[in-house]
Amino acid sequence: MKTDSAGRRRQILMNPGPVNADERVRAALAGPDICHREVEFTDLLRRVRDKVVRICGGGNDHAGVVLTGSGTSAVEALISSVVPQGGGVLAIDNGHYGRRMHDIAAAYGLYTRHLDLGWGTRIPQAKVGRLLAVDERLTHVLVVHHETSTGMRNDVAAMATEAHRYGREVIVDAVSSIGAEYLDMRTTGVDWLAGSANKCLEGMPGLGFVCGPRSGFATLDAMPRRTFSLDLHRHYLAQEVTGAPAFTPGVPAFYAFDVALDLALREGVAARGARYARLAERLRDGLERLGFRLLLAPEDRAVSLTAAALPPGVDFAAVHAGMRDAGFVIYPAQEVLSGEYIRLSTMGTMSDGDVEAFLEKLGGLVSAAVATDAGFTR
Ligand SMILES: *Cc1c(COP(=O)(O)O)cnc(C)c1O
Repeated sequence: MKTDSAGRRRQILMNPGPVNADERVRAALAGPDICHREVEFTDLLRRVRDKVVRICGGGNDHAGVVLTGSGTSAVEALISSVVPQGGGVLAIDNGHYGRRMHDIAAAYGLYTRHLDLGWGTRIPQAKVGRLLAVDERLTHVLVVHHETSTGMRNDVAAMATEAHRYGREVIVDAVSSIGAEYLDMRTTGVDWLAGSANKCLEGMPGLGFVCGPRSGFATLDAMPRRTFSLDLHRHYLAQEVTGAPAFTPGVPAFYAFDVALDLALREGVAARGARYARLAERLRDGLERLGFRLLLAPEDRAVSLTAAALPPGVDFAAVHAGMRDAGFVIYPAQEVLSGEYIRLSTMGTMSDGDVEAFLEKLGGLVSAAVATDAGFTR
């Protein structure tokens, strides 16, 4: 049995976040008790915000705001806070999280145009442009970078190009891509981005963040205040001007994120992406050998997640239970893919050996299921 440094049973997490974290990140959780309105936290907050901007490829004209909450809270803070009175959003939906961006906008009563493409469908760039051209109310384009429901990587740079052609801005949900997929704010033209600490950045759960241009943050005071606790302008002023959070932060998660960001910056986004891609290649080859069918074309696949159809006669619940007994947590697909598909993440401190052990155990379960199935149908 695999154990961690404290002798606890180590589960390999193949769910797309939270991920298995480096021992140094976990150890940081046990940092000292501090007051979040004293200099210790001001320093920690400044460090973390600076590193977030660097990970996002931002420059001196960018700023980061870190929120205590899950990734969705960062996405929601953005959508609710940056759209002007009378503005609206074009929500690009090719999976669960694209739909969620739309639903968040709708929950705030924003004017929305829902581009419902169907799961795993590539975004037609020209169509996005045409929709913007005919509807002046659409001030923002909402798009997910890595659509974690399918494993698809959307071309957010193309969306930024299209939005800017019509003088609009693009808001990217980069929750499951930032840290491992190329997403440089200066070169891609992405205006606003939301991320979280516990996916490809390999921190602990509990923190979300937003990165955007300082000029953009400065305009937020003119926007309608649609929310109190997720008001991005409130958080920006508190963190940027006062150097303290607006509300009580998850201090241990900040300690862990500080270390996780150091590790991410040291490794580099490109190298981390390559590391995940190697694990994913190994995993995908193995799955195909075992009779799983991969959902997407190779060029559409993100490095951190694989969606695959179970072989005929193989039941998700049985595979989940068998893999859990062996120390691996696998994830079901959502909504339209549920039942037939599994999703497997390659984020975190997973090793080649973990993937090999996973495939070996999975192979045993699949053979057993197929044999039983054949037995019943003979
Ligand atoms: C995981 C995920 C989210 C939601 O993150 P939570 O931390 O669960 O709120 C949002 N968007 C994408 C693309 C994700 O993968």
